[in-house]
Amino acid sequence: MELTRQWCDNVRCPAFGQIGTDNVRVFSYADRRFYCVRCGRTWSADKGTAFEGLHSSRAVVARALAQLGERASLRATARLTQHPVNTVLDWLECGGRQAAAVSAYLIQGLPVTYAQVDELWTFVKKQEHLLPKDPAEYGDMWVWRAIALPGRLRVVTHLSHERSAAEARAFLAKFKLAVQAAEHRQRRRVVAP
Ligand SMILES: [Zn+2]
Repeated sequence: MELTRQWCDNVRCPAFGQIGTDNVRVFSYADRRFYCVRCGRTWSADKGTAFEGLHSSRAVVARALAQLGERASLRATARLTQHPVNTVLDWLECGGRQAAAVSAYLIQGLPVTYAQVDELWTFVKKQEHLLPKDPAEYGDMWVWRAIALPGRLRVVTHLSHERSAAEARAFLAKFKLAVQAAEHRQRRRVVAP
């Protein structure tokens, strides 16, 4: 297991957050865990990844996420991996959260010359027969998105239950803010020595 990019996340440890300070050892190869020799804390090799907290093997989860990325259905993926649909949904949620975090970290200050704006319809859990006790996110869902061209990187996404003028304005306001923030960063970069 790779030791060099691991760090102790115990805030009270003198080696907290440090990389390459020789305080990290393998705690268990079988469980893929590390430990810190300074404070004794142990942690999973999957810390901070899409696999954190999952019991299934990395290879199975990675293959399932690749299939979903190629538009295989949830049920087809569940059958192919021989796991319950809800387990595949959990994997998808973990993968989605990680993808959003990586995008937010890497895609900043994106210069936008041309953008494609679009809305897509989908639904969360239920399309019809919503009950009063159902969570607010259930039901019809519109995904409004702006993609910068030609790179096709996502500038902003907006989710709404309604496809209305008010939601379109809210989405365009977010888009405008994202573009203005990117232009501001670009200007600071140009001015900075
Ligand atoms: Zn420590």
